[in-house]
Amino acid sequence: MSKYWSDLAASLVPYVPGEQPKDQTYVKLNTNENPYPPSPRVLEAIRNAADGDLRLYPDPTCSELAEKAASYYGVQPNQVFVGNGSDEILAFAFAAFFSPSNRPILFPDITYSFYKVYASLYRIPYKTVPLDEEFGIPLHAFDEPNGGIVLPNPNAPTARYIETELFRGVLEWNSDVVVILDEAYIDFGGKSAIELAAEFPNLLVVHTLSKSRSLAGLRVGVAIGHPDLIEGLNRVKNSFNSYTIDRLALAGAVAAFDDQAYFEETTRKVVATRERTTSRLRELGFRVIDSSANFVFATHPGHAASRLFQELKQRGVLVRYFNQPRIDNYLRISIGTDEEMDTFLKVLEEVLSLEGGSAES
Ligand SMILES: *Cc1c(COP(=O)(O)O)cnc(C)c1O
Repeated sequence: MSKYWSDLAASLVPYVPGEQPKDQTYVKLNTNENPYPPSPRVLEAIRNAADGDLRLYPDPTCSELAEKAASYYGVQPNQVFVGNGSDEILAFAFAAFFSPSNRPILFPDITYSFYKVYASLYRIPYKTVPLDEEFGIPLHAFDEPNGGIVLPNPNAPTARYIETELFRGVLEWNSDVVVILDEAYIDFGGKSAIELAAEFPNLLVVHTLSKSRSLAGLRVGVAIGHPDLIEGLNRVKNSFNSYTIDRLALAGAVAAFDDQAYFEETTRKVVATRERTTSRLRELGFRVIDSSANFVFATHPGHAASRLFQELKQRGVLVRYFNQPRIDNYLRISIGTDEEMDTFLKVLEEVLSLEGGSAES
């Protein structure tokens, strides 16, 4: 606490990202990064953009990228907003569509922890909707007066996916407020709700290039929605910083949408590795939630997740552990390459047998 902090800065409870320790090299399965590098065409485009033009500001409207994304998603360019990662889009969306003086916004009790952080930043009241026993999102609970809704699909950190068509009800009941669907992991097996945007002017779908396009380090996300929603986002953005996407990121992101074959190949590999990992974890006695993402959420009846997390870390394997009610006996394991997952599974088996418990192999 410093006497120089504003009331706002003093009151914040910031997001805590997954650790990035430098003390040794880890098999890093804790931040849902893609294990494969970006498309070679992306790297080439970035290298080509690294020239004297960096003295110039980038295009504040990101028009080339917005057009590229629009044609990829089958919408108009004025239905696309580009942000510095989807986190930034979410931050702008909370400011653009939710109000401190309105009813509470709704999101699940177990979900991406940034939603709470943005709500506190802007002093937006919120109410959490408890997941059911199987960690499903009870959509009927969103049929009550509220100031807006944020839902991730698939959910994080559970990896559970809800069929897109099932969101129709939520969108109809809530036609007076904005419903944000955060589809950060949709490319790993789900079907995007973007096609519903033509029907529902209150729907904003948020995507990121960080996960399925291997570009977490470039910081680019896109949102799709009615042109009025996009204009709302631009009003907020242009009240912070007009140049959120730099020239290198713009070049790389455009190239990412151009290399569809690479995108499909790498997502297919991640999905295949996920299925193999899930089967093996189940053989080892874990309960693993069916995943439609690039990570799995698992618990073992005979071994405490907090211990497993520590034992894995000591042996050079990093996964994510959340010390939070309801999920404090679960591990979130990002899907790496086949080799990384083999290492993870081998070390895990060691740890399970060392601990005794009910491990079997
Ligand atoms: C990773 C993630 C994001 C943020 O992605 P960036 O585009 O890298 O900011 C947003 N929502 C969820 C649910 C995520 O897991």
